[in-house]
Amino acid sequence: MTEKSSSALLDEVKSSPQQTYSAKAYSAQNQTARLAPGSIRRREPRPQDIQIDILYCGVCHSDLHQVRNEWESAMPTVYPCVPGHEIVGRVVKAGSAVKKFKEGDIAAVGCMVDSCGVCPSCREGSEQFCDNMATFTYNSEDKQIGGVTYGGYSQSIVVTEAFALKVPKQLDLAATAPLLCAGITTYSPLRHWNVKKGQKVGIGGLGGLGHMGLKFAHAFGANVVLFTTSPNKTQDAMRLGADEVVISKNEAEMQKHLASFDFILDTVSAEHNLNPYIDLLKRDATLTLVGAPPTPAPVQAFNLLFKRRQLAGSIIGGIRETQEMLNFCAEHNITADIELIKIQQVNEAFERLLKSDVKYRFVIDMASLK
Ligand code: NAP
Ligand code: ZN
Repeated sequence: MTEKSSSALLDEVKSSPQQTYSAKAYSAQNQTARLAPGSIRRREPRPQDIQIDILYCGVCHSDLHQVRNEWESAMPTVYPCVPGHEIVGRVVKAGSAVKKFKEGDIAAVGCMVDSCGVCPSCREGSEQFCDNMATFTYNSEDKQIGGVTYGGYSQSIVVTEAFALKVPKQLDLAATAPLLCAGITTYSPLRHWNVKKGQKVGIGGLGGLGHMGLKFAHAFGANVVLFTTSPNKTQDAMRLGADEVVISKNEAEMQKHLASFDFILDTVSAEHNLNPYIDLLKRDATLTLVGAPPTPAPVQAFNLLFKRRQLAGSIIGGIRETQEMLNFCAEHNITADIELIKIQQVNEAFERLLKSDVKYRFVIDMASLK
């Protein structure tokens, strides 16, 4: 073996996906357990990877659904489960083939860390619809080191640079973390259904997703109505971009808006009746679900048939669109409204999410994990 090839081999071994290191993380051991500190294995960066020291991670209601195995039929949870897919951090290692980042740069990671890259959806930049199933940031098969992927409630993460985002300089880092899921999940459908000036647009639920939905729909020029079960959120809703607030449990208030909406985005995390919302759509208009309650919702066919209304769903957004959203946020001075917490408070934060008591996204200061 020549000297050159042996050093090439050494490089290969050094960057082998089998090489791992230990990182601190908060995980749940089963569906009733509290999240607790421990450690996980991460792969050493390959040539195309960056290693990120996590500074901030948002707390999404999906983290709670997944940790508690509430989506058992669709996406059963593998334990231990380390949630977290709203990640902002600092690059501490960049592989030899990395182009977009260097050590010391800020990088962000959302809900996906990889996809097949060759199917039609991946080719068009809609990796979230990958025919071979994108690798999600947590609870997906880890094709590099086996087991499942672990999310952002941890010290660091390693990701191929293709799935890492650039954070525009003017954005506050902690308040940017929620954009990586709550932001793109609302931006993408509002763009896809072409929400624009002059339209009447509804946002259902004022939590992490809902408050980003208000900000984007307002920024796109729509006349925005918030549907909420929490009358005490009215003032905040107006500040966040709503032109009007409707208490969704008040039938008379709902009736006033019959057949008047161009588009409604439903971000509600728990079981609720969709039919009153369908009734509010104009002819040919769409109710899009992004909220993912664990239980199926009955739909009255006649509410759709008359007026040819549409019921749709949407999941996060592609990498290209996520970068577009971050850039849009920088241009329009948009970030999330956050409550910064220590990781030791994360179980309490989960309980508060269940009471619709968050203003409007918890973000973990990962310095508290050290
Ligand atoms: P969140 O911060 O907990 O907000 C959910 C909001 O839903 C609450 O603040 C509350 O708003 C409303 N709500 C809760 N219980 C309700 C009930 N029983 N009836 C009516 N409204 C109720 O949650 P999030 O992080 O925004 O996530 C929302 C949902 O979206 C979750 O199911 C999550 O898994 C899903 N999600 C989907 C995607 C996707 O790609 N499609 C991405 C991320 C999250 P009010 O107080 O205003 O009523
Ligand atoms: Zn999320």
